[in-house]
Amino acid sequence: MIKELISPAVCAQCRMCCVFDIYDIWETPVFSRKMKEYIVSRKPDAEFIPKDGGYIFKAADFSPDGTFKCPALTENGCMLGDDKPFICRIFPYMVMEINGARAITAAVVCSEFYNRPLSELVGFLKNGLADRIFSYADIHPEEVRPYNENYPILLIHNS
Ligand code: SF4
Repeated sequence: MIKELISPAVCAQCRMCCVFDIYDIWETPVFSRKMKEYIVSRKPDAEFIPKDGGYIFKAADFSPDGTFKCPALTENGCMLGDDKPFICRIFPYMVMEINGARAITAAVVCSEFYNRPLSELVGFLKNGLADRIFSYADIHPEEVRPYNENYPILLIHNS
């Protein structure tokens, strides 16, 4: 979550980005071993599957409405705090690969974010965040998701 664009109070009420269904399962975060072990220490029933050098959680229990929660989600929000996975820290921005180039896209599911002027969303990226996102993506290409047409492109990396 980008705290400068979305208030923590709004996030606390929503939590949509920490709940998934079969259509957005590809969006689930990749956890480091340390994160995984911390989650298991607090939620021993949580199960994980190795993925791209990290771990994704096993979505075993779907709610009656077809959704499942990230095991790091608690009543008080994410138990990982500021040490949450990169994809979660930059959400509702996402970094994706399109035709061999990296792009930063916007998750429309977050209306608080997406209803802001486009100039503000892009301007915030150009204030240093885009450089940090693309640098991180260079080091961790496994966290770059394939482009999904439901995510408007805000910025493409010029390499
Ligand atoms: S790691 Fe935290 S922020 Fe990321 S999906 Fe899970 S609960 Fe949400």
